[in-house]
Amino acid sequence: VSTPRGDRLTRTAQQRAEARAAALERAHRQRVLAIVGVVAVLLLPVAAVGLLSLDDKKDKSQKIHTTAKSTPAKGSATTPAANPAGAQSRTDVPILMYHVINAPKADTSLPDLWVSRENFQAQVDELKREGYEAVTLQRVYDAWKGKGSLPKKPIVLSFDDGYNSHFTNALPILKAKGWPGVENLQINQTQKDLTPDKVKTMIAAGWEVDVHTYSHPDLTTVDDSALKHEIADARAEIQQTYGVKANFFCYPAGKYNTHVIDAVKAAGFLGATTTVDGVATPDSAPFELPRIRINGSDGVQAFKDKVAVGSTNPGASVGE
Ligand SMILES: [Zn+2]
Repeated sequence: VSTPRGDRLTRTAQQRAEARAAALERAHRQRVLAIVGVVAVLLLPVAAVGLLSLDDKKDKSQKIHTTAKSTPAKGSATTPAANPAGAQSRTDVPILMYHVINAPKADTSLPDLWVSRENFQAQVDELKREGYEAVTLQRVYDAWKGKGSLPKKPIVLSFDDGYNSHFTNALPILKAKGWPGVENLQINQTQKDLTPDKVKTMIAAGWEVDVHTYSHPDLTTVDDSALKHEIADARAEIQQTYGVKANFFCYPAGKYNTHVIDAVKAAGFLGATTTVDGVATPDSAPFELPRIRINGSDGVQAFKDKVAVGSTNPGASVGE
């Protein structure tokens, strides 16, 4: 269970308005830069023709030679602009954070950690309608490193702690869309209801399994041997049990510091997710990837707002 820290997760209307204004401003600047780039590319042949005519005046015998040289130069000048697939691999990605996918039990102290099956279904349907496509963290990481590409509107749906409802409710709803989820597995939970055979079924459906320790301690307070056990040993056990890479770590309750990050790096992870609110970008620190917390109390509109602000406001640390 990741505990909300204070009111950092509460986005005020004012913050949203500022975030949208910043996103619009950024989009405007990008359009201006794009226009400048196109004009520069268009001007290159003109410049080449100018050089040709200078050459022509100097020496007619060199004209053919010069023309032959200028042709490939013109071609290479247009190549970068004709490569939108490259840009797509560096796109921003909202990483949603879920806990239980079920109606809250009457006696629960943290009802916001519970998103009902019906609400989850509505949220996934909404994402599909908006053109999103769920991917794994590994695919995001690879694309950001220039190895592979991302869909037009990528999104990661991550599920913390290894609850049985990830298997009973989230798995079939995502499977119907052909989408993977990301399970942040707390190993001790698999001794309870999300058993290893269920986890294997999720992996077979394309899910990524990442590491969320054995016992969910606050890692900033444990000694070094416990730190190694909860991070490195947990990864080794998940790799051994499921034959997966488990390349990403998720800090229990979002608690971490530089010492914890060093231990995660030493265990060979490629990155880690936090409970810091925001959208992940190719420029995010890989061991401090922000996420967007989805609460049980979020209506469809609140859900849409969270995802929309995330996807149009790269890099903003809203409420932090
Ligand atoms: Zn947790």
